[in-house]
Amino acid sequence: MSATYNFCAGPAMLPTPVMAKAQAEFINWQDNGCSVMELSHRSKVFMQLAAKAEADLRSLMNIPANYKVLFMHGGGRGQFSAVPHNLLPEGGKADYVISGSWSKAAAKEAANYGEINTVEVVTKTDESQTVLAPADWALSKDAAYVHYCPNETVDGIEIFDIPETGDIPLVADMSSTIMSREIDVSRFGLIYAGAQKNIGPSGLTIVIVREDLLGNARLTTPSVLNYQLAASNDSMYNTPPTFAWYLAGLVFEWLTELGGVKAIEQVNKEKAALLYDYIDSNNFYVNNIDSQYRSLMNVPFWLTDESLNDAFLAEAEQAGLLALKGHRSVGGMRASIYNAMPLAGVQALVDFMTDFADRNKLK
Ligand SMILES: *Cc1c(COP(=O)(O)O)cnc(C)c1O
Repeated sequence: MSATYNFCAGPAMLPTPVMAKAQAEFINWQDNGCSVMELSHRSKVFMQLAAKAEADLRSLMNIPANYKVLFMHGGGRGQFSAVPHNLLPEGGKADYVISGSWSKAAAKEAANYGEINTVEVVTKTDESQTVLAPADWALSKDAAYVHYCPNETVDGIEIFDIPETGDIPLVADMSSTIMSREIDVSRFGLIYAGAQKNIGPSGLTIVIVREDLLGNARLTTPSVLNYQLAASNDSMYNTPPTFAWYLAGLVFEWLTELGGVKAIEQVNKEKAALLYDYIDSNNFYVNNIDSQYRSLMNVPFWLTDESLNDAFLAEAEQAGLLALKGHRSVGGMRASIYNAMPLAGVQALVDFMTDFADRNKLK
């Protein structure tokens, strides 16, 4: 099999060394005589694995001691319900900043549970897309929390400045940006992320929550979405996704060995710059997002001659460059270049794009 690079937005590629390690110990994990996925989550060996994964994540993200890390089910969308269930009192109001399709979906789900004030921050024309600076967002003074999505996976919009919300807890959907660059966790009340972009396989959801926000769930909150219950049971109120937890732990070890988030941030910036600089260097491809708000992880681009889209995708796949089709809501192409994507993968993509443009320009 020749080298392929998988640009899927999620579930996304995992680091090759992680997959190789998991394969090698798949049937007999650490001489326990069975697979890690056949072990009780309450066994001593699994509890050790679980604690090590949490400790590694804490050190990778520099998570302060007054935050709980929860390993939950339900994905990003599960958290779209869990957040209002746990943080929005009956009759209360929350601010939802809308910067693209995921933040919009989060607001729609939250509206089932209370009054939601939506704050639109993206300006779009045919030629350009830009974002209102967080300092200028029209937030309420009396919201129970402010929710936003720092990286819009579908739209390719990333908001790098963290909004200042004073005493109002800031909640962030970091599903597609977690661990891609350094952030100050103490600025947030709660961070959540589905695992399948930058952490591990689907089925696991990470929640990082400041302790003072626990214990306020509604009486009607399903127990599996209750943060306090999850926290007081070390994320084992119900059976956690043990195999996904194990794989996430391997990803944390891999990232730690590479030099942590600081080191991968440099690689991520290099990868993104390589791709955006190439796109900007010609008229064959275009990305119309304000350069200050271009995502480091998800790079949408369009062929100026969209009649070539099918040929582009078919030839890319033949060249081993997989899953480049853009999300149906925005069309065009999208290259998701999460932590696991090496620089060589982005270079291979740029080489292919250059060749494809050369061959099709004169037609
Ligand atoms: C992928 C994604 C989601 C949805 O996650 P599910 O696990 O499918 O529910 C939510 N938010 C963002 C930003 C995402 O990238």
